[in-house]
Amino acid sequence: MPANLPPQYIALKRQFELSRDTDEKIELLEEMISIMPKHKGTNKLLGEVRSKLARLRKEALSKPSKHKRHDGYNIVRQGAAQVVLIGFPNVGKSSILNSLTNAEAEVAPYPFTTGKPVIGMMPYEDISIQLIDTPPISEDFVDTHLPELVRRADLILLIADIGNDDALEQIEIVMPKLLESRIKLISGEDQYEDEYICKKTVLIANKEDMEGSQERLEILKELYSQRFPIFTISTETGKGLEDLKSQIFEILNIIRIYTKAVGKKADLIDPVILKRGSTVLDAAAEIHKEFFEKLKFAKIWGDGKNVYDGQQVSRDHELEDRNIVEFHIAD
Ligand code: GDP
Repeated sequence: MPANLPPQYIALKRQFELSRDTDEKIELLEEMISIMPKHKGTNKLLGEVRSKLARLRKEALSKPSKHKRHDGYNIVRQGAAQVVLIGFPNVGKSSILNSLTNAEAEVAPYPFTTGKPVIGMMPYEDISIQLIDTPPISEDFVDTHLPELVRRADLILLIADIGNDDALEQIEIVMPKLLESRIKLISGEDQYEDEYICKKTVLIANKEDMEGSQERLEILKELYSQRFPIFTISTETGKGLEDLKSQIFEILNIIRIYTKAVGKKADLIDPVILKRGSTVLDAAAEIHKEFFEKLKFAKIWGDGKNVYDGQQVSRDHELEDRNIVEFHIAD
């Protein structure tokens, strides 16, 4: 049986082969295991990767203590998606996290206030999205576990400080630093290019309230608008923040599906989150194995376009954001 490994796995494997650092190798193997499809065709490979991991963990433990690996941040994924904020020191990442979420990250007019990731949940309509503020990236410092956080995220917010004359230089420092970890920032869906993982990114121009920010914004747009979507905000005045929430949701390309049991009211509290383009069958697979295996058809409400309320649709019908779905399975 073929293993059918996803391109992300192949990219991680190439990174693993190139890596000379035991801690990084361990992280890469852990990620490979977490994304490897688990079926008969991958059983043997899974066993091999697991034993490689066990060997490396043992090796890491036997090293002198200064090399001892401190565990990754082990951030539990919560909410509809995970979005990671990155940037040079002092660009306003903590302020953005605090403005958009319930978190209370320390804000200070001096660099390096964020030593560890800080997590917050950003409410958006009836869902919430996990935002993670990360230790800053500078000429001579990148947190060991930052690449892992970036690789695992659904979307990256690259923060630029347009209150600062060095805004462009700062971006020009951050991006090559990530390239060293074989991460490229791109617009559009994630891609895998040889050993590079290309991550979907939005460029956020913060501190638009400051003097000179408009001129810097123009230059930033000239240089980067082809490469990234750019959103302008100020955490000081609140400008652009509400817009940013809906832009993040749009760019994540996710849809919300509400389920409904036959003869009952729909559950409008806890939507199932799916990638845009998902079908009725994809939704069934996400909800329950039995639905997936025995699905005959579904009925849909709330389409408002091509499907009337309560219309029967086939398993491969593409769902829209906010559809209510009633699954019908074979006995
Ligand atoms: P971080 O180091 O990237 O997390 O940045 P912080 O959130 O700690 O902010 C660094 C400094 O910039 C603090 O003094 C903030 O008050 C200030 N700051 C953040 N956002 C804005 C903004 O939109 N406008 C202005 N004028 N200052 C800001």
